[in-house]
Amino acid sequence: MKRALFPGSFDPLTLGHYDIIKRGVHLFDEVVIAIGINADKKYMFSLDERKKFIEEAFKDEPKVKIVTYKGMTIDFCKEIDAEFILRGLRNPADFEFEKAIAHTNRMLSKIETIFLLTAASTSYISSSIVRDVIRNKGDYTVLVPDSVRVK
Ligand code: ADP
Repeated sequence: MKRALFPGSFDPLTLGHYDIIKRGVHLFDEVVIAIGINADKKYMFSLDERKKFIEEAFKDEPKVKIVTYKGMTIDFCKEIDAEFILRGLRNPADFEFEKAIAHTNRMLSKIETIFLLTAASTSYISSSIVRDVIRNKGDYTVLVPDSVRVK
């Protein structure tokens, strides 16, 4: 079974994440969306909210699983028997950042990182921009799946 882990903060899930996950489903037997828990990070949405947004967005997609994890991504991959890490690339800055992590992960394990280039239409979207729009009372709904709504 080809299982890929798609790790991230998803604070919140955006149309960019959504696009990568949908395309990942065609490449792998299972895509595990793994919400990383980092005690030092301040999030806009609680872990429960972030998880619910993703669950609702992929409720009709049986090949997508949603989990939370702590610690090193490669350790978690081994725990759930995922041979691949899926990541999205938006721009050269993403590439440089991801390259260092992927090399390190390869040095420490046999796990391969598979990169998908973002769809042109969502390449400018980031969770941090979405949070800024929300804070400033802008229309964030055009940047996120319908399941992501601020109460
Ligand atoms: P992290 O905290 O690891 O940056 P994110 O939730 O921001 O977590 O992102 C998780 C993954 O989704 C990363 O691989 C990131 O490159 C990818 N990603 C983020 N935004 C987009 C986008 N607009 N299009 C495609 N991939 C994206």
